[in-house]
Amino acid sequence: MRPTPDEILHRVFGFTAFRGRQEEIIRHVVAGGDALVLMPTGGGKSLCYQIPALCREGMGVVVSPLIALMRDQVEALRQFGVEAFALNSAMGSEEAGQVLRRVRAGAVSLLYVSPERLLMDGTLQLLANCRLSLFAIDEAHCVSQWGHDFRPEYLQLAVLQERFPNVPRIALTATADAPTQGEIVRQLRLGGGKIFVTSFDRPNIRYHVVPKAKPRDQLLRFLSQHHKNDSGIVYCLSRQRVEDIAEWLSRHGFTALPYHAGLSAEMRSLHQDRFLKDDQVIMVATIAFGMGIDKPDVRFVVHYDLPKSIEAYYQETGRAGRDGLPSNALLLFGVGDIALMRSMIAGSDNDEMRKQLEVRKLEALVGFCASTRCRRQILLEYFGETPRHSCNNCDACLYPIASFDGTVAAQKALSAAIRTGQRFGAAYLTDILLGASTERITQFQHDRLSTYGVGKEYNRSQWRDIFQQLIAHGLLLTDMEGHGGLRLGPDALCRPVLRGEAVVRLREEMRPQTTRALRGEKRRGAKPNTETIDRHPAHFADADKPVLETAEENRLFQSLRALRLQLAKEQNVPPYVIFHDTTLIALTKAHPKTLQDLSRIPGIGPTKLERYGEAFLRAVNE
Ligand code: ADP
Ligand code: ZN
Repeated sequence: MRPTPDEILHRVFGFTAFRGRQEEIIRHVVAGGDALVLMPTGGGKSLCYQIPALCREGMGVVVSPLIALMRDQVEALRQFGVEAFALNSAMGSEEAGQVLRRVRAGAVSLLYVSPERLLMDGTLQLLANCRLSLFAIDEAHCVSQWGHDFRPEYLQLAVLQERFPNVPRIALTATADAPTQGEIVRQLRLGGGKIFVTSFDRPNIRYHVVPKAKPRDQLLRFLSQHHKNDSGIVYCLSRQRVEDIAEWLSRHGFTALPYHAGLSAEMRSLHQDRFLKDDQVIMVATIAFGMGIDKPDVRFVVHYDLPKSIEAYYQETGRAGRDGLPSNALLLFGVGDIALMRSMIAGSDNDEMRKQLEVRKLEALVGFCASTRCRRQILLEYFGETPRHSCNNCDACLYPIASFDGTVAAQKALSAAIRTGQRFGAAYLTDILLGASTERITQFQHDRLSTYGVGKEYNRSQWRDIFQQLIAHGLLLTDMEGHGGLRLGPDALCRPVLRGEAVVRLREEMRPQTTRALRGEKRRGAKPNTETIDRHPAHFADADKPVLETAEENRLFQSLRALRLQLAKEQNVPPYVIFHDTTLIALTKAHPKTLQDLSRIPGIGPTKLERYGEAFLRAVNE
C-alpha cells in the first residue's frame, strides 16, 4: 500500500492541513495527470510535486534552473528525512558518481537536476531504466522567450513527453500573465493536462508607498522601529547606490551586505550564503538579486528606488513573508526616479517598440504609487483578478489618504508648463509659481508670465508633491530624455481639467495651510514626508508582536531562535530548514512538556522530532 497524500503531509512534513488548492493538485498528479500550477511566491508550490513523488512509486525528477535553489530544497527535504539529491554542473564527477549510483540502486525519492544535465544523453538513458514517479518543471516561465528569465534549454524539455509518455509532468511558476501561460503549455506540450490557477494575493504582505524625501532617514527609521532583528531586502537602482546604502546601514549597526552584478561571483555567493544562513542580515541589492531565493523569513522588502514595472514590483515584494507571517513592503516614491528610469529606458539598446512598452509599464507603476485606492486591489486587478473588497492591510486602507479638490492647483501647474514651452522640470516650474527671482527666470523673462507668483498658497515641498501626483494622474509626463522636463499628458485628460470640467483630487496632506505655507518655507523641505513613517508607526506589520504578547514570550522566542541558529551553524545550513518562525512561535505559545506534546506542533515531523526534539524541549522548559 502506497501512503496517501494526507499521511505524507502529517508524517513526513508535520503540517496540519493543505493550503489553498494543494490537495486538489496533488490528487490530480497522484492519479497520473499532467498539470500546470500557477501560484504566487510562497503559495506552497513545492509540496504539489513533493507529495505526489512520495505517494507514487519510483523517483521524482525535479528540473530546477538554479543551483543555489536546488541545494536549498534538497537540504530542506533531507531535514524532513526525505532521500533527496541534486545533480548539476557545479558538482565534481566523484560526487555526481555517488548520486548516480544511488539513483541506479533505486535509493532516491527526489532528484533535483538542472535542465542541461537532464538533457544529456547519458542522463536520459539512465532515467529510461528507472522507475519514475513524475517530472516536475519548476520555474516553468523560463521557457518563455519574452520573459526575463529565458533559459533556452527549457525549450528542449518537450522531449520528456516523447520519451516518457507515461510519466506525469507538473510545471510550476509564479509568473501570472496569460501569454506566458500559453507559451508554457505549448512549449512543454501540456495541452492534455489541467491548469490550476490560484489567486495571486499575498494577504500577509502589507504594502506601503511613501513619498521619498530624505530617503536614508526614512529607511533607517523604518528599520530601527520595525525590523531591528529581521532579515530583509533593500532594492536600489544602481550598483553605486547599493554600495553606499549597505555601508551606511552597517555604520548604523545593521548587518547589511551589498549584492550586484559588479561584484565577483565568489563575493556574491558569499553574501547570499550569509543572507540565508544568518537570521538578521539585510541584503542591499540591485534586481540581480532574488530569483530563486526561497528564504521563508524575509520580513521586509524596501524599494529605495522605483521598480521597473508592476510585475517587477510584485515579484520583488513577493520575496517577503513566504512563511505566511506578517511582512512589510515599503516603496519610497520619488518623482526624480521617474525621470531617471525614463532616461535608462531611452538610453538602452532596445528597439522603439520595446521602449514604448517599458514606458507604459513604468507609467502604470507610477499610477499605482500615486493612487489613493487600496494597493492590493490595484495590484490584483492588474493581474486580471477582481477583488471585491479593499484589503485593510495596505497604507491606503489603514490610513485612508483623504483627498481634496485640487483642480485649481492642477490648472496653475499645467499652465506654468504650457507657458514655458513644456520643457522645464518641476523645480523650475515651482520657482515660477512661487514667484522666485532666479537668474534663469530673469534670463527667460518668465517673471512676465501670468502664472508667475500665482501659487504661493503652497510651499515648495507641497508643490513638489503636487507635481508628483499630477504625473501619477497622467496629466503631466516626464520627457523621454530623462532631464525631468514636463510636458502635458493626453488632451483627453488635460483639456477638461484646464477648462474646469473635470475635478482633480489631491491628497489632503497637501492642502494649503495658509498660515504655515505663507510662513518661511525654506527649512521644512522634507518634513511632511518623513513624518509619514513616524506618524503611523502602528501601521507597519510586525511579524511576532501580535502573537507574542508578553516580554516573557518574547524572551523565549528569542532564545529558541538562538538555539536554532546554533544548530544550523553546526550543520552549515540555513536556520529555516530546521524550523520556521511559525513553528518557533507555536512552541513559545504551547509550552510543550513532552515529546508527545512537541510532535503536535505544526512543522515538527518525526524526523525533526528525533533530531531536535530534546534540545527544544529543554530550551522551552528551562
Ligand atoms: P513557493 O510556492 O514559493 O515555491 P514553497 O513551496 O517554498 O512556496 O512554500 C512556502 C513555504 O510554506 C515553505 O517553507 C513550505 O514549507 C510552507 N508550506 C507549504 N505548504 C504548507 C502547508 N500545507 N502547511 C504548512 N506550511 C506549508
Ligand atoms: Zn488595501
